[in-house]
Amino acid sequence: MQTLSKTLQNLTPGDPRAYVHTRVLSEQREITKTPRYSPSERVKFKQNSKRILADLATASGSLELADKLSRCHANLAVITCGKHIARVIPDSTCGFRLCPDCARRRAGKFMRKYVPAVLAFSVASNTQPCLLTLTQKKRSESFQSAVKSITESFKALRRSKIYKTYFKGGLFSVEFTVDTAGLYHVHIHALIFRTRQLTRDDLQNLKDRWFAITGDSHVINLKWIDPRQPGGITAGVKEVIKYAVKPADLVNFTQDHFQDFVDMKRQRMFGTFGEFQKFAQTFEPEPETLLPFTQHRVGEPCDLCGNPLFDVRVKGKDLPDFLERINATPARE
Ligand SMILES: [Zn+2]
Ligand SMILES: [Zn+2]
Repeated sequence: MQTLSKTLQNLTPGDPRAYVHTRVLSEQREITKTPRYSPSERVKFKQNSKRILADLATASGSLELADKLSRCHANLAVITCGKHIARVIPDSTCGFRLCPDCARRRAGKFMRKYVPAVLAFSVASNTQPCLLTLTQKKRSESFQSAVKSITESFKALRRSKIYKTYFKGGLFSVEFTVDTAGLYHVHIHALIFRTRQLTRDDLQNLKDRWFAITGDSHVINLKWIDPRQPGGITAGVKEVIKYAVKPADLVNFTQDHFQDFVDMKRQRMFGTFGEFQKFAQTFEPEPETLLPFTQHRVGEPCDLCGNPLFDVRVKGKDLPDFLERINATPARE
């Protein structure tokens, strides 16, 4: 593999990559409906977050971590058909809990593992997957105590009669923010399996239970996922696994917060529970259910257009531009 410009210089006519040469690099733009954030903008956000994190690491004397962060996703192999991106493979990853690039990789692994399992469990147990959001008003000085308090409360809720009557098992994650006072605020996103319909009174009972446990919060949000809707389950699992830290979340971050995360080694932010936990441990997905998560290789056809995939070396810092050029490239016949 070589750099993009080298690759393009050495192309022979007929090489599928010649397409990139003429189309990707030209300045033409299509008028298309733009999503709220383009892939290019999302990469810029992530890079901004990483700059903030690397600065915090440097300032707190964690030079090794700062170095790891600056090398993480700095050099990439992009697997593309010239119009779509199949995969981005970094030369180096940092694995730091707050790194948005590493969070995304982790999320991809979780999706591959849990989307087929959630679907299979809901069929096998004849239950309906639902999304449950739980918040607590209490704010904490340390991240660890904030996470501990909400996960313990969630455990208590799962032991309650009202909960057990309607739900069995699921998976959850903890999301956090730091408020302007510098205190941690956390909530839980869970995907749980409903065994029967809740009445309005049942839902109120569930809310009352949560209030009794937390002592301060009525906030429970419960919504059904329609498994017949294409992508419904995928979107549901994604909702649970939104780990990525946005730059806005880091605005109130001090060096103390940063150190809090560096020191915290084993605090779990994600877990499975109940019958689903047992099911997921031994679940062997059918090969075809893993198709949407296939890690494509060079030479294989692109999922979206069928054209052959090839690899291009891109510097992490050039990725936003590269994505914009790809986006501006018309689809090939
Ligand atoms: Zn990283
Ligand atoms: Zn394609």
